[in-house]
Amino acid sequence: MKDFIKSLLAMLLLLLSCVVFALGYSTPRLQESGLLDYWRYGRNHQTANLPQAISLPGCPNAPFVLPTNGWIGVLYGDSILGTFNHSGLDIFGDKGNGVTPVYAVADGYVTRYPYWVSAVIIRHPRDPLKPERQIWTYYAHMADVEGHSFIVDQIPAGTVELKIKQGTLLGYQGDYNAHTWREVSTHLHFSIVLDNGEGLFMNEMERVNTLDPSPYFGMRLNSRCADRPPACTQTVSCAGN
Ligand SMILES: [Zn+2]
Repeated sequence: MKDFIKSLLAMLLLLLSCVVFALGYSTPRLQESGLLDYWRYGRNHQTANLPQAISLPGCPNAPFVLPTNGWIGVLYGDSILGTFNHSGLDIFGDKGNGVTPVYAVADGYVTRYPYWVSAVIIRHPRDPLKPERQIWTYYAHMADVEGHSFIVDQIPAGTVELKIKQGTLLGYQGDYNAHTWREVSTHLHFSIVLDNGEGLFMNEMERVNTLDPSPYFGMRLNSRCADRPPACTQTVSCAGN
């Protein structure tokens, strides 16, 4: 019995030190990454209390308009669970699910695969910053956790290459998590995705397949040199920082 209590105590001590280590190790990384935004602001829809330096349409002279309003909390290259691989921007509206509109950032052709509950992708035949190439913009989390979609009726599942204008309403922010364990709060995930050279978009989950959104929005949004909160600037590149 004594041995049992001893080993129980040893296990408790081990557990406690693990917790202390994990907290000490993860807190600065979380703060740095913006992941805390998911807890603090998004969960309770308290983004209204945060500075929102930029609202639609975005920065003057930027080629893209902002896709939605809210706290631009998780930036390009930020860490999600230690990966430093965030492929786009997470923008948190303050009004909960199905309320904050999401717009096309530029003219293009929108596609929504038959099984896409919360996402659409737009093909832009000419990258405004490099017109010889085609790029794509991807918009996700436009549904609730049960899978009730907030994408507008004009873009039903199965839509292929519907021509749209910059500023076209696509849907509304939601908290869809693809039925995984990972809880997210109401926001839009937005990314700029490279073309594979054969007219198809690449896997946007990998950051190497995406572009730094900074020059497209006229803000420093790359975690290497980002402004937090983001602000309109002439110098969007990380070089020299
Ligand atoms: Zn995201």
